[in-house]
Amino acid sequence: MKEKLLGKTPGELKAVALECGLPQFSAKQIARWLYVGRVSSIDAMTDISKAGREALKDRYDLGLTAPSACSVSSDGTRKYLFPVRCPLAGGFEDSSVEAVMIPDDDRRTICVSSQAGCRMGCKFCMTGRQGFHGNLSPADILSQFISIDESRSLTNAVFMGMGEPLDNFGNVMRAVEVLTADWGFAWSPKRITLSTIGVIPNLKAFLDGTRCHVAVSLHDPFPDERLDLMPVQKAWPLEDVIGLLRQYDFTGQRRVSFEYTMFSGINDTKRHADALIRLLRGLECRVNLIRFHKIPGAPYETSPAVVMENFRDRLSNHGITATIRASRGEDILAACGMLAGEHGAGLKER
Ligand code: SF4
Repeated sequence: MKEKLLGKTPGELKAVALECGLPQFSAKQIARWLYVGRVSSIDAMTDISKAGREALKDRYDLGLTAPSACSVSSDGTRKYLFPVRCPLAGGFEDSSVEAVMIPDDDRRTICVSSQAGCRMGCKFCMTGRQGFHGNLSPADILSQFISIDESRSLTNAVFMGMGEPLDNFGNVMRAVEVLTADWGFAWSPKRITLSTIGVIPNLKAFLDGTRCHVAVSLHDPFPDERLDLMPVQKAWPLEDVIGLLRQYDFTGQRRVSFEYTMFSGINDTKRHADALIRLLRGLECRVNLIRFHKIPGAPYETSPAVVMENFRDRLSNHGITATIRASRGEDILAACGMLAGEHGAGLKER
């Protein structure tokens, strides 16, 4: 496989230019074509000489992947399927991932995938069920932004699709760098939220290295119960994740939120709400309560709406901002925890 241009920094593109017999300043031109012009072929880089473009094509691929299918929810949410080829076990594995575009008034948020499958094994998650099929490259991640129909009107991004972003740290950091750099998409980091189950060393590096928002998948305040839902609790206990977060300032522009999927009779009781209140006391944060979307074979039921409302109110009455997140794209299997990177649920070939 040829190396991909998409995801490279201007510094790296300088080396590419020199290798292809181009002047150094071509690096800036190529970066502009990639991230501002968002071209779909090397041939479209028209201020690079024809010979230069041929030399580029001999050695490099643009790295842009188009979606192979798209499905549209009755609520306007759109789910795109992308073919990917990921390095795995000394070779490559062909797989597919999904990106979801969620419209909401004047916002257009992309929920982006960072891995094909996931190795974290959360029991309630379709992606976790399918196991791990490889890390997405920066080009694979950026293609989700560039290749969807709403590319130019996107307002926000959440790394909340397939995979654990902090388990593909280098590639996700590079994608975030491209998204936020002046030479890249020039997005404010405030437009980006990374969701993690709490891979502590990489979470620290992400907090230190960016100004993006963070969302932590919490789901249960009791360590033993959380371990039943999320094996990661063993390696990176929630208490330590919260301890790390307490070292950062979330009173200004940057936000931390906690994702809490509600399972009937499992984590939706008053005892859980009170433990959550104790756990988060003094931390400037928000809790997003998420309705569990049933997946085949998972031994969990969705909490009734009234139980969720009571849980939310108990948190709110104790000074914790809590909201029940609206489910989006459930009819096309695009809602939280449902992404599987598979054809079906109304996906149309493109
Ligand atoms: Fe992986 Fe996130 Fe699913 Fe857990 S919830 S298995 S971290 S994709």
